[in-house]
Amino acid sequence: MSSLNALEPGVMFWTGRDHVAEVKQLGVRCGQLGIDPSFEFTDAAADDWRSALEQEQFTLVTVFAAYAGESYADIPTVQRTVGFIPRATRIERFERTCALSDFAAQLGVPSIACHIGFVPEDKSHVDYLEVRELVRRICDYAARHNQTFALETGQEPAVELLHFLHDVDRVNIAVNFDPANMILYGTGDPVDALGVLGKHVISVHCKDGLWPPKEDPNALGTESPLGSGDVDIDRFLAKLKEIGFRGPLNVEREAENQQERLHDIREAVALLKRLTA
Ligand code: MG
Repeated sequence: MSSLNALEPGVMFWTGRDHVAEVKQLGVRCGQLGIDPSFEFTDAAADDWRSALEQEQFTLVTVFAAYAGESYADIPTVQRTVGFIPRATRIERFERTCALSDFAAQLGVPSIACHIGFVPEDKSHVDYLEVRELVRRICDYAARHNQTFALETGQEPAVELLHFLHDVDRVNIAVNFDPANMILYGTGDPVDALGVLGKHVISVHCKDGLWPPKEDPNALGTESPLGSGDVDIDRFLAKLKEIGFRGPLNVEREAENQQERLHDIREAVALLKRLTA
């Protein structure tokens, strides 16, 4: 695979939705692959993805997990359904994450990531203790493949996430920083948060969004095309440089309509190329 330049634009894309050749045509040669919940981890699937990546000379920096039954409809639904917080699916999601780590290793990818969900603030809470233990086990599993395990930001303030990272106490625990999530969940100014998390940030999403409506504490903000929301992209890029981040700038866009989504990603890649030129 090709070596990448510092702050080179990339794309966050998904099995079941995107193809490597199509993503490359958006103007990038690197990115992060999200694994949809229906994806089956087989040797044949790994061979298919590996040959597609090789054919396009495309570098994957992260493989992302998402789990069956997750919903991002509003904050209470996220709390109830996302990551390792729901008890009924905790073990099966742990096992799927280990399978995803194996799959990432088959593709030669050095990092796995996911949303672990809303971890309770109370450090003696049984869910806090059990999720911390499970995250440690995933770190230890990923370490066997020399992978980092990155937690996606947004569902808690940066200071709380930093405490959790220290409490997990594993050398390969890290952060995938998503500035828009800080806004969508109303958890704090993303540029300040990036300063707090600093050296723990090993990958980023370039995503934008609008703050949630103040009158509804359960509502999430609205994701929007890069440059059109409340993330100040210039400030975000300046802060990334300040903390010494040199990885790819992975554009993430979640629009339902695929044509709209690909259009917005293409525009975002062009914007990042202008801003980093
Ligand atoms: Mg994200």
